[in-house]
Amino acid sequence: MKNKWILIVCLMVSFGVFSQSKKYPTHYFRSPLDIPLILSGTFGELRSNHFHSGIDIKTQGVEGLKVRASADGYVARIKVSHWGYGKALYIKHPNGYTTVYAHLKKFSPKIEKYVKKQQYKKESFEIQLFPKGKKFRVKKGEVIAYSGNTGGSFAPHLHYEIRNSKTEKTINPLLFGINIEDLKKPQITSLMAYPLDKNAQVNQSNIPLQISVSRSANGDLVADKISAYGKIGLGVSTFDRLGKAYNKNGIYKLIQKVNGVKTHQFTVDKFAFNETRYINLLIDYERFKKIKERVHKSYIAPLNKLSMYSITDEDGTINVEDGIDYNVSIEVSDIKGNKTKLVIPIQGKRDSILVKKEPKITSYYVDNESFNKFSLGNITVAFPKYTFYKNYYLDLQVNDSIAKIHDETVPLHKNYTLTFDTSYLSENQKKYAYIANLSDKDTSYVKTVKKKDKCYTSTRYLGNYKLMYDSIPPQVTLYKSRDKQWLTHFNKLQVKIKDLESGIKKYKGTIDGKWVLMEYDPKTDILTYNFSDKKFKKAKHTLKVEVEDNVGNTKTFHSTFYRKK
Ligand SMILES: [Zn+2]
Repeated sequence: MKNKWILIVCLMVSFGVFSQSKKYPTHYFRSPLDIPLILSGTFGELRSNHFHSGIDIKTQGVEGLKVRASADGYVARIKVSHWGYGKALYIKHPNGYTTVYAHLKKFSPKIEKYVKKQQYKKESFEIQLFPKGKKFRVKKGEVIAYSGNTGGSFAPHLHYEIRNSKTEKTINPLLFGINIEDLKKPQITSLMAYPLDKNAQVNQSNIPLQISVSRSANGDLVADKISAYGKIGLGVSTFDRLGKAYNKNGIYKLIQKVNGVKTHQFTVDKFAFNETRYINLLIDYERFKKIKERVHKSYIAPLNKLSMYSITDEDGTINVEDGIDYNVSIEVSDIKGNKTKLVIPIQGKRDSILVKKEPKITSYYVDNESFNKFSLGNITVAFPKYTFYKNYYLDLQVNDSIAKIHDETVPLHKNYTLTFDTSYLSENQKKYAYIANLSDKDTSYVKTVKKKDKCYTSTRYLGNYKLMYDSIPPQVTLYKSRDKQWLTHFNKLQVKIKDLESGIKKYKGTIDGKWVLMEYDPKTDILTYNFSDKKFKKAKHTLKVEVEDNVGNTKTFHSTFYRKK
């Protein structure tokens, strides 16, 4: 009898009868900060080319707050990088999860000492370390670091993640019992309708259409009645505001129903890092590129391999038949269960199509299931299989030395190679040449590899490219100090490094001929040496900073300072 009950409970567990949140330990991890948690970013929020992989916790506008280990464990990985997570710590816990703390200002003294030692050994600020043999064991609540704004962070905050240590999948930290006040419903700010097959139409158009939305008496949103025919899909622009924070965050769940039946559900509980780029199929990428609005589609585009879809009938698309009415709803909710519903009445009607757009036929047809290579003027483009998400007629042009590689509103999954033939250039031009991406706002260097008569790059972006020339070396200047100054009361020595054309590739600082750790913040262009790294015996010192740009122009800067201690 007893065995039978155990079996039933086991079956209930394996079939997921218990609710989602019960899968994760809810009292195991403590908050990494001592302050009340206010978020500036939620898990799974839609970002550029990725879903946000953790939560962003506001740090009251300041850096240097104590960051504590969420549970007992050991430091499994330490990473310091100019961009991305900046200074980051990964703590492995015995229950199978790893917590991640990013954009840190610095580590706790013993970890900081170890990291610096390794940085001096490798003569590099950027470093990745996997301390051996559980060298740094930590207790729950122990201070492991101080919050900051390093790497790709544009305001002080702590980026916090909980990952499955084995699969490396990142999980919504709010499923672990971390409580955030949120009484506000998500908002839906716009609705899009997409005709998806050859004969499909929405309001007599075969191109995507925005549909007006208004608020009904019961508080729900109602869209203007759509007249449609064929296979269509829908999408909404939506965000959630949490308690005490004005910023817009992401939603947790989206459910689409057709005539009361759930046909599509998206829930952002966890994801793998190798699927995150499919976000460009979840959103209306073209609309995002054009007007910066992220529309969350309630259907799954072909090749979209995201794992966040649980229910999906016909991939969430709707087959609208002539003469039949449909009542569709899209409901978005946050993790606390606050919901907003949008009702979309659809009238099935096969009509004449008045607004039509046919793809422009060109001689550069990409069959996405094969390797495609095209040459034109002095450029060659080579696309590996499945670089795109579908087949395209590419718009390739070379005008006034600008190579137009289709346009930036088409997302790519993989890198392709763009090669410029440089055989017609002088040796000097070859030396200074680099490939730049031209957007309407600026010109930016793209990683350029040079061979004898070629310059090439590997990129995941379509758009306009051009060969540019950089013969100007980087600039180096002292920041907050003067040459030949006594710096005894300074705790750091800073220089500003800048390159106007191709950008900074590397830098190296020495004091009295010995390599010193200069921390680089590309957001402010500042290199910082901390005087606490070393004690000086004599008074007069020479700082030498060498900076190289992406083309190879170098600048060597010398300065003298005085300091005794
Ligand atoms: Zn973040």
